[in-house]
Amino acid sequence: MITLGIESTAHTFGVGIVEDGTILANVKSAYEPDEGGIHPRKASEHHYANAKQTIDNAISKADISEEDIDLVAFSQGPGIPQCLQIGGTAARSLSQKLGVPLVGVNHCIAHIEVGKLETGAEDPVTLYVSGGNSQIIAYAGGKYRIFGETLDIAIGNAIDKFARSIDIPHPGGPRIEELAEKSENLVELPYVVKGMDFSFSGLVTRLQQMLGDYDEEDLCYSFQEYAFAMLVEATERAIAHLDKDEVLVTGGVAANKRLQEMLEVMAKERGANSYKVPNEYAMDNGAMIAYTGQLKYNSKGETEINRSGIKPDWRTDQVEADWNG
Ligand code: AMP
Ligand code: MG
Repeated sequence: MITLGIESTAHTFGVGIVEDGTILANVKSAYEPDEGGIHPRKASEHHYANAKQTIDNAISKADISEEDIDLVAFSQGPGIPQCLQIGGTAARSLSQKLGVPLVGVNHCIAHIEVGKLETGAEDPVTLYVSGGNSQIIAYAGGKYRIFGETLDIAIGNAIDKFARSIDIPHPGGPRIEELAEKSENLVELPYVVKGMDFSFSGLVTRLQQMLGDYDEEDLCYSFQEYAFAMLVEATERAIAHLDKDEVLVTGGVAANKRLQEMLEVMAKERGANSYKVPNEYAMDNGAMIAYTGQLKYNSKGETEINRSGIKPDWRTDQVEADWNG
């Protein structure tokens, strides 16, 4: 079975093509803001302008023809409404044109499923950290449940915000990581973990107040140490409560070496295995949507056109994900 999947929740218009457990193509076109963060209208205009070409590129990369496609999957949510709309429209029209079923996929669950496919993790506690999401998720009782999450902004968004205040363009993560590597001087910052949840906006405000009085490298280093320790603490508690022995990290922020190292140390101390999703599949991508669409279709069938509207606030734990057995 060949599935084409479309991702368009935020900055990336991605198209993946999957044949059962094999990824045949994973192509993307990413909107990059000239200044500031992601502008919803501009991002959606970018997606609209690049949708057809990206779909065509994926089909030729996979070395198939349109008629070989058996199923069309798309990111139904959560995400920026204007952006989701473009992917949804492209997916509906492609499925109708080809006369094949359509399936709507939850973006966060897709990150986990492709992560399991790529790393071999079977039943992990997942730390999903990106520009728009920060969640600790694990499978329990037929659903992916959220055991901890940010109370305000996502970690990637926090990093990008602070980066902008020191004139680093979007996305700021890689440059902040480079600056952090140049310091070992920890300065005190707010550490906010509440139960299993965490919060980053106060941390960013404090960092912005400290600008000018402290060395930027020290601030970047301390930011990473504090923010990642908060994430790892909550992830560790989820592993302990759930008695799982795998931790999977995914999302754009998973590219950060220091975060990976802190998770590895924690996992090792608990006798658990730590897995990092390769960057190509940790960032937003179409392959994860195609692969998860196929899993969902095989267990639950298609998404009827009248139920295929976008779901900007769709939560991970609203999905019956019982294809996991
Ligand atoms: P995503 O939303 O999954 O596409 O991920 C994008 C987010 O990942 C942005 O907020 C980036 O700043 C962040 N990011 C990318 N690379 C790194 C890195 N090396 N360290 C920290 N954050 C990163
Ligand atoms: Mg994502």
